[in-house]
Amino acid sequence: MPQLFIGGQWTVAVDGQVREIRCPADGTLVGTVDEAGPKDAAAAITAARDAFDRGPWPGTPAAERGWLLLRVADLLERDKEKFARAESLDTGKRLVESELDMDDIAKCFRYYGNLAASGGNDRVVNTGVPDVDSRVVHEPVGVCSLITPWNYPLLQTSWKVAPALAAGNAFVLKPSELTPHTAIGLMRLLAEAGLPDGVANLILGAGPTAGAPLCEDPRVDMVSFTGGLVTGRRVMAAAAPTVKKVALELGGKNPNIVFADADFETAVDYALMAVFLHSGQVCSAGARLLVQDELHDSFVAEVVKRARTIRMGGPFDDHARTGPLISATHREKVEAYVAAGLAEGAVLRCGGSRPDDPALQNGYYYPPTVLDECTPAMSVVHEESFGPVLTVERFRSEAEAVALANDTVYGLTGAVWSQDIARTHRVASRLRAGTVWINDFHPYVPQAEWGGMKQSGFGRELGPAGLAEYEEAKHVWRNLAPQPQRWFE
Ligand code: NDP
Repeated sequence: MPQLFIGGQWTVAVDGQVREIRCPADGTLVGTVDEAGPKDAAAAITAARDAFDRGPWPGTPAAERGWLLLRVADLLERDKEKFARAESLDTGKRLVESELDMDDIAKCFRYYGNLAASGGNDRVVNTGVPDVDSRVVHEPVGVCSLITPWNYPLLQTSWKVAPALAAGNAFVLKPSELTPHTAIGLMRLLAEAGLPDGVANLILGAGPTAGAPLCEDPRVDMVSFTGGLVTGRRVMAAAAPTVKKVALELGGKNPNIVFADADFETAVDYALMAVFLHSGQVCSAGARLLVQDELHDSFVAEVVKRARTIRMGGPFDDHARTGPLISATHREKVEAYVAAGLAEGAVLRCGGSRPDDPALQNGYYYPPTVLDECTPAMSVVHEESFGPVLTVERFRSEAEAVALANDTVYGLTGAVWSQDIARTHRVASRLRAGTVWINDFHPYVPQAEWGGMKQSGFGRELGPAGLAEYEEAKHVWRNLAPQPQRWFE
């Protein structure tokens, strides 16, 4: 069956190209999908443009749009196991993690369904001028290009698709070339839920050939992109000539600050989860551990002891606690960062080389790795390796911890661990990051905004601001008793 979804029809790529998708855990063939090029991207934009300019969706009452999203949430829950398996096969992540992702995805659709159904945020403006009706109304932006990465394929997609639809937009989605299957499944569910043809379009393919046209085409009104910093810059540049609205969710190099008075057991446990979850392929990963000097030795020793016991394995290995990296290329990139860190003076405490377990030889595995005695100048500290690599830096004072934490071009997340409540709030308020956790790491809810400061991007996903990204505010001023003004008399 064809896998590009354009104007409500399943279709193959114009040029007949296809791509094999292989599971990164063991190299088995997951499927062969159609590979779109610029012509397919243009056709998808035409379909979205038509649906937006002439179709019923933008004018559908917001409450009805919301009800459709709630139906999609129900369908996602119905098909949860199927979606979770597909996600695990594409990404190599553990099935249990994909199942949790599916729960979060359904919640995201439910949140935006309810938000849309509860009525918009249009408002009457008190102008102080008699006989004037002044209102600010919110309208959809138009045709949106949604470009997503491979680490949380359907989750990142849901953060864009749900609010884009809630606001009444039409879109073209391009998931990562490596992880297309759950996006295909989502298109089926949107159609089943009754979304009009052409509102949701899917093209599969590589960034430069299928993604770039979605950023350049003058018929596109907005690009919402999640991915790496370098690609984000390209997307922004490609969108600039036509002054499209752009939202960027980019990488992070997130500090996890542990003060000496933190609860030792809990802070160790979370330090491991913060960075090694999904083999570190998490934009919010706590990849930089900053530990107060007097705690450093015992804390790092315990982290290393436990990191050594984290078992790697494929999605359906019940004993595995973490999976492979996404590709051979990505593993080489992570290895290069570790090698550079060691050459620059970091001390290897554990990991640092491919596993020799024969059962793992067909996958792109790389073990939890701890690099100690790191400094901000090291590339492994200030650049995103996006792998299971924890760098450790020491600090003495609160001021030094904040300075080290903020010494990065990124600003996505950060965490502070201490039993001194006043201190945690002081530090949290000084961290330049879109999300800060106090005595916790990684939780998020669809009701709260997510996004970055500095070069982690701009714009917000989730929460009310995540919906506002896909809306234009329009001021409508109606003079109820127009009279000649005689300005020029
Ligand atoms: P990439 O930047 O490589 O790719 C992201 C998407 O952009 C993919 O669909 C890719 O296509 C596409 N793309 C590549 N080149 C272009 C182009 N020239 N024009 C348009 N689209 C293009 O990121 P990864 O997929 O490697 O994902 C990892 C990155 O995502 C990390 O940096 C991570 O931090 C970030 N991320 C950020 C999140 C956040 O919330 N801030 C959340 C999750 C991840 P393809 O890959 O198919 O070629």
